[in-house]
Amino acid sequence: MTDAIRKSNKLEMGSKKRIKGLKAQGELYKCPSCAYQDGFHVSFKWSKKSSKGEIYLICPNCHSRFRLGWNISVSKITS
Ligand SMILES: [Zn+2]
Repeated sequence: MTDAIRKSNKLEMGSKKRIKGLKAQGELYKCPSCAYQDGFHVSFKWSKKSSKGEIYLICPNCHSRFRLGWNISVSKITS
């Protein structure tokens, strides 16, 4: 792996930190990294090929990013 690729992987989702896995259990409102207790921001990462995406949680306080394997798909909207 080249340094350039390693760098771009690190910057996934605009963050310098790695996206951590989070277990989907109990009530989820507290950040495991900094103990902030007022919940999370939500972010989406869409597949380039399909209409599928994954939801990420972002801590508003320390900006840690978490994934829960929360996969979604969207249907086409006609306006
Ligand atoms: Zn946090």
